Amino acid sequence: MRYEIAVIPGDGIGPDVVREALGVLDAVGARFGREFRFTSNLMGGAAIDAEGVPLPASTLAACRESHAVLLGAVGGPKWDALPGAKRPEAGLLGIRSGLGVFANLRPAFMFPELAAACPLRPDIVSGGLDILIVRELTGGIYFGERGRSSDGLSAWDTERYSRSEIERLLEVAFEAARDRNKKLCVVDKANILESSRLWREVAASVAPNFPSVELSFMYVDNCAMQLVRNPRQFDVIATSNMFGDILSDEASMLTGSIGMLASASLGDGGPGLYEPIHGSAPDIAGQDKANPLATILSAAMLLRYSLHLEDEAKAVEKAVASVLAKGLRCADIKSGAASERVLGTRAMGKAVVDEIREARS
Ligand code: NAD
Repeated sequence: MRYEIAVIPGDGIGPDVVREALGVLDAVGARFGREFRFTSNLMGGAAIDAEGVPLPASTLAACRESHAVLLGAVGGPKWDALPGAKRPEAGLLGIRSGLGVFANLRPAFMFPELAAACPLRPDIVSGGLDILIVRELTGGIYFGERGRSSDGLSAWDTERYSRSEIERLLEVAFEAARDRNKKLCVVDKANILESSRLWREVAASVAPNFPSVELSFMYVDNCAMQLVRNPRQFDVIATSNMFGDILSDEASMLTGSIGMLASASLGDGGPGLYEPIHGSAPDIAGQDKANPLATILSAAMLLRYSLHLEDEAKAVEKAVASVLAKGLRCADIKSGAASERVLGTRAMGKAVVDEIREARS
């Protein structure tokens, strides 16, 4: 079988880091006998320059026809003066809604070698961190009815969820927990919010389909505190759009640099969208300074969630861990220790590729 992957390098460091992730996927293909076919597509500032729009119809069509989409990042000062709907970031919103990717998976994974980059006390994170936040991405208060009174003195935003929106998100979260460490914590505010009480009802109704998963509930204020008090208690956290937005930023900071964090956005059987959580970093674009590991780890998520190639995904993650264990670092994750060697974007990508190749021999 040939796997079709739509690639959107984007702007700034996007092309730098995507290039390295594609090299890693090629190495995975060679090692495991898989055929990946990449198509390059325009989005963001690059698309505005070439075609006048941030998300050309041809890009969305190519993404829809693929098994998965790998995205770098979009945006930059060149396009900052454009009105909202014409900016590169409009392409991002357009592709997320165009692909119907309602579940955003953000792993907060700390490689033990990078423990020094964690702002928590070493004893709190000793043994590492491995949390997956599954955030609802296309509903809730960010999409609910909003408005202002005619006198302008009051305003409202509405948190509204349907049973089906919650159910499809929780199924993704239960599946992830089943395939990981078998614990799912649904985070809500069910002591106050009616919509949260519906989340609990739906979670209880989905749970019997996943008997191996231990389900628990936690209020969001407590979860915010527990993430810094004892983050190792969590495996998978499932939550609404706004709570997930806030908690995933909190959790990501626990693991160190933005240059390490991957993400996946999944829909209902269509292609998933995989991207690093960082932006286009125009300050270091094209200078061989960007850390490509977040994009390489996003490619590992692509292998796992869209192509169901678990061994291949693990091989990529293991290669990244080996590279870090050897003391190889990009500038954003260096601690200054004498045992470290600082590499540029290309050399870091090559180091991961070499690990994958060497593991074969
Ligand atoms: P940013 O994430 O691009 O950069 C923030 C800081 O982190 C910068 O100092 C940058 O050099 C550094 N950084 C980011 N990624 C790095 C990497 N892989 N390796 C090493 N250092 C890295 O955020 P920003 O500066 O707020 O935004 C820059 C542009 O990116 C803006 O146009 C913004 O709209 C866009 N943006 C795009 C996305 C996306 O495409 N998903 C997300 C966020 C921001």
